[in-house]
Amino acid sequence: MTEFDAIVIGAGHNGLITAGYLAKAGMSVAVIEKRYEAGGGLCTEQITLPGFLHNLHSYYHILADHMPAYKDLELEKHGARYICPETQAGLVSGDKALKIYENIDKTQKSIAKFSEKDAKTYRKVQEDYAEYMETIIIPAIYSPPVTPSERYAALEGTPEGRTFLELDRSSPLEVVDDLFECEELKAEILHDLIYPRWVLPEYHGLGSMAILSISQVERRQLVIGGSHTLAHALWRSLKASGGVVLANRAVRKILIKNGAATGVEVADGTKYIAKKVVASSIDLKQTFLELIGEEYLDENLIQQIKNYKSDDFSIFTIHLALNEPPKYIPDVNDAFHIILNSETPEKIIDQFLQIRKGKVKDPILYCSTPTLWDKTQALLSKHTAVAAIPVPYKLKKGSWDDYKEEFIEMCIEKWSEFAPNLEKNILGKAGVSPLDIERRLSNMVNGSAFMGRITQDQMEFFRPTPELSRYKTPIKKFYLCGSCCHPGGGITGGPGYIAAMTILEDLGVEL
Ligand SMILES: Cc1cc2nc3c(=O)[nH]c(=O)nc-3n(C[C@H](O)[C@H](O)[C@H](O)COP(=O)(O)OP(=O)(O)OC[C@H]3O[C@@H](n4cnc5c(N)ncnc54)[C@H](O)[C@@H]3O)c2cc1C
Repeated sequence: MTEFDAIVIGAGHNGLITAGYLAKAGMSVAVIEKRYEAGGGLCTEQITLPGFLHNLHSYYHILADHMPAYKDLELEKHGARYICPETQAGLVSGDKALKIYENIDKTQKSIAKFSEKDAKTYRKVQEDYAEYMETIIIPAIYSPPVTPSERYAALEGTPEGRTFLELDRSSPLEVVDDLFECEELKAEILHDLIYPRWVLPEYHGLGSMAILSISQVERRQLVIGGSHTLAHALWRSLKASGGVVLANRAVRKILIKNGAATGVEVADGTKYIAKKVVASSIDLKQTFLELIGEEYLDENLIQQIKNYKSDDFSIFTIHLALNEPPKYIPDVNDAFHIILNSETPEKIIDQFLQIRKGKVKDPILYCSTPTLWDKTQALLSKHTAVAAIPVPYKLKKGSWDDYKEEFIEMCIEKWSEFAPNLEKNILGKAGVSPLDIERRLSNMVNGSAFMGRITQDQMEFFRPTPELSRYKTPIKKFYLCGSCCHPGGGITGGPGYIAAMTILEDLGVEL
């Protein structure tokens, strides 16, 4: 079959969500995917040894509680289920560990070991803002972005909103510096913004993100069976509504007739016709400059697309198959997300300065042992561990392909300083470099996990450009539904959901 009502390009979670809603509304839908399987960044593979599942990209998701698709597309019925570890994060500083728990009493106690004053402030900020975050900020993640003047008007009406507008004039670093005295607490909050939100401490205008982190309304959760299980559930849900994923087909052209999208052409020349709509979940530049072509776009838009900036950093992941889990000193073994070798804001800034220069000498290690919460991810009584390490895409000297093995050894050595039992328990190891990311998912150009920097000029109404920020494009019947749109990258399901709602509204179709 080569004719459908709707064609979605790319079967990452956003593409699958858009397709899932359109199919649920009764449309015939095909998702066309370049790789041999659906999922994109929901990618779990046995890259070390058979029987050990490793999440090569996203390993925890912070918006599972809020993602509308989770309920609407009945993802639990189709096999997905999340676990929320009680000890959410732990940051190691010398012989002490600062921990963030699900339970605010426990978090307060942990922070109090560093600063009584900060422990009280952290709790107060969380209590003051949790409801505002739940009722105003989270829904905004799942709504089309409003214009700057509409945003101002909406926020200036309440005291919390006015505080937000004030915070929006500062950076996360300035906000944590104003609120707290404890360097470790400041660092923990800043790290929570870096991974998995890709927001750096000095990003001007993103100060309110620090409050979002403290509110803990976005919980770190993992999918039982590995992140790819969520992709399976999305695919099953789509299938149950009559939709299909056509894999091993790289889209090379979006077909346009009389200013409207009519379908796509894939690498072997096969044409797939879309009677009502085409939506792209892949990166901005590939979509417009390669699949559509400049001849269909006005000069101003072409320039804006060319100016769209890629992420400031990439991520190198190291995956281990282990006989026993790492035992950390000090004890952060109960923490799901462990931050090593970066305990103060000063150190973070310095580490990112190095990254900007193309250097990777003293890396931050974000570590986790998923099998402590989900035994299905390894053979009986064995374990997997991951270290996600912010790195430059381009090294100052040499290429990741040449430096990869040395970097893995250097990081494992550093990791072992915090977990002395690590090296002797390694059964298998593998690394995924920024070049490997780009090779696996060609939309993550430059190892760009978020498909575009999360800076003020590329957020909300300005993402990816003001003209394209409502998921519609100058090409009739053609929409965007991926991470280059608000609310951006990460496993949020936001772009896919809002695009689906926009398309259904434009077509006058009810769910
Ligand atoms: C190392 C790493 C770690 C990460 N960790 C986390 C984390 O812990 N938590 C988190 O929330 N996020 C994390 N992320 C980010 C997250 O994985 C992405 O932001 C997310 O996958 C984006 O989803 P998407 O659906 O928009 O795009 P993708 O998941 O990238 O899916 C796009 C799909 O389009 C396909 N495609 C590309 N070009 C074409 C074409 N021409 N024709 C057809 N198909 C095409 C691709 O093959 C892919 O399947 C991480 C990313 C990386 C790289």
